[in-house]
Amino acid sequence: MKCEFCGRDTRQKKVKRQHWLHGKLYIVENIEAEVCTECGERYYHAKTLDAVDAFLSKQHAVEENIIVEVVRFQQITA
Ligand SMILES: [Zn+2]
Repeated sequence: MKCEFCGRDTRQKKVKRQHWLHGKLYIVENIEAEVCTECGERYYHAKTLDAVDAFLSKQHAVEENIIVEVVRFQQITA
């Protein structure tokens, strides 16, 4: 497909994605996406995201647990 932002070609790749489901954040590896070769924008099929939701909703193996910082960004003035 063509990238909506820069008009260049995308390539199908397996990527790692931050994915929210029912208020919980998951890092999901091995998700199929179209990735722009120029700007790196990613495009996911709706059915791919639905499949990820379904996968996470069932019993699944967990590779790793990480702690995530939630911060409020403030511009640093030097
Ligand atoms: Zn692009």
